[in-house]
Amino acid sequence: GTTGTTGIKLAEPHLEDVLSSAGINVEYTRAERNTLYYRDQDGQEVPVLDLVGGFGSLILGHNDPEIVAHARELLAAGTPIHAQFSPHPHANRVAAELNRVIHRETGDTEPYFAVFANSGAEAVEAAVKHAELDRGLRLAALAEELAAHRDSAREAVAAGARVEAAAFESAGTAPEDGIEGLIEAVERSNDRQLARPPLFLAPEGAFHGKLMGSVQLTHNEAFRLPFSALAAQTRFIPVDQPDALAKTVREERAVILDLVTEDGTVRLTERPFPLFCAFVLEPIQGEGGIKVIGEEFAREVQRVCQEIDCPVVVDEIQSGMGRSGAFLASSLIGLRADYYTLAKSLGGGVAKTSVALIRQDRYRKEFELVHSSTFAKDGFSSQIALKTLQLLEADDGRAYRLAREKGEKLLSVLELIRADFPEVVKDVRGRGLMLGIEFHDQAGTASPEIRAVAEAGFLGYVISGHLLNEHRIRVFPTGSSVNTLRMEPSIHLDDEEIERIRRALRAVCEIIRDQDGGRLVHA
Ligand code: PMP
Repeated sequence: GTTGTTGIKLAEPHLEDVLSSAGINVEYTRAERNTLYYRDQDGQEVPVLDLVGGFGSLILGHNDPEIVAHARELLAAGTPIHAQFSPHPHANRVAAELNRVIHRETGDTEPYFAVFANSGAEAVEAAVKHAELDRGLRLAALAEELAAHRDSAREAVAAGARVEAAAFESAGTAPEDGIEGLIEAVERSNDRQLARPPLFLAPEGAFHGKLMGSVQLTHNEAFRLPFSALAAQTRFIPVDQPDALAKTVREERAVILDLVTEDGTVRLTERPFPLFCAFVLEPIQGEGGIKVIGEEFAREVQRVCQEIDCPVVVDEIQSGMGRSGAFLASSLIGLRADYYTLAKSLGGGVAKTSVALIRQDRYRKEFELVHSSTFAKDGFSSQIALKTLQLLEADDGRAYRLAREKGEKLLSVLELIRADFPEVVKDVRGRGLMLGIEFHDQAGTASPEIRAVAEAGFLGYVISGHLLNEHRIRVFPTGSSVNTLRMEPSIHLDDEEIERIRRALRAVCEIIRDQDGGRLVHA
């Protein structure tokens, strides 16, 4: 017919247009290790050094030969992939292996139960959902206890006990209203508290996904605000103000009223109300601009959360799986989690899988009966995850050493560039193979081309386009810090690749320093 859609782009075509305006809409046709290939007009393969690394999903590189061989074997053997609601030994082994590695790194011995999912955001949502189930069960137990105390108070008064005068006053009622008036006022106040939605805590700059719940944990307003009516809200804590967390917790402090009968007197006491569902944080913020959380902030999170009995969710979706030089980046800053989330590289660059790990002490087995996904824990991705863990753990953790050593090498190259171009490079930072280079905002440049893209917030994308087209290096800004380019190559990064990065970045810095916009923008 005449209304056919053949040849029309329908899968998010606008995004492609945006990428193409920065010159980064290249279609890749093959991939291995740190290299993506495209075909030029003559059909020749052109290699591109890929520092995006699947946004962190490729710690072993593109198409790791052992992972690919294993995937082939699994498929050739007719492995059951979707056999839901049957025993799942492979998912159990992944969970056991994750526990072994976590226990080794943290020195803890308490088991973590595993709830598998399919994407990073989904693992975050599973963790948060579990935390809310737990909070709800704790609230129900609290409500039951309060009801028992209320009944005892009523009985005690009937048997002649007195009610402390201050109780009426603090409940906003009068002695003439008697115990029934007091109970009514207390219950009205408590019901108001119980009906409040939970609150989350997260650092400023946080990124935890873009689904309905997880996007409310993501600090970037452009991602979060249009959807804030859909889910519970987060208070964002500045990471550089030591007292900010305690202050926020004080501001939001909520109490529930309890009628306690003791020595023939009924008194009104206040008990803390568990308003906070979870504190969620990345040990190294990825999309927020590759920012390593400090040990002091981590200690403060731990201290305050323990005080208010709020679980700590450590999101290792981008920083975990060895990228930082340890399996868990949080282990390097002494941060301990009630929940860990892992995704991205867990699938070895081939499968899609993710997991929320929940510390036994907080674990509610009821969750297993109310949460599930068709694809979670499937036979294929579980066995690929297991293979990935084996490869990371091989030779006494050689992969972690490689991430650390190669990361240090690349970072020292970036530091030299910053030293040579202080007016161009604002900062270089990160840990292991999770590095960032932040450019100064160029709104004050004499180059009209550079000024225009800087003012539009596109500088990072234009630099990325230039690096791709002039140097065959693929790099992107982080999601929420647009002047920071992320570098998350695989552990196969070699000296020649590091040298290419050095030369390319120096060339870009020279252009920006010389305010030579024509060479940057119209490359
Ligand atoms: N948490 C963190 C720390 C992430 O970096 C990301 C992805 N950038 C997510 C969650 C969301 O993962 P996904 O894109 O797989 O939903």
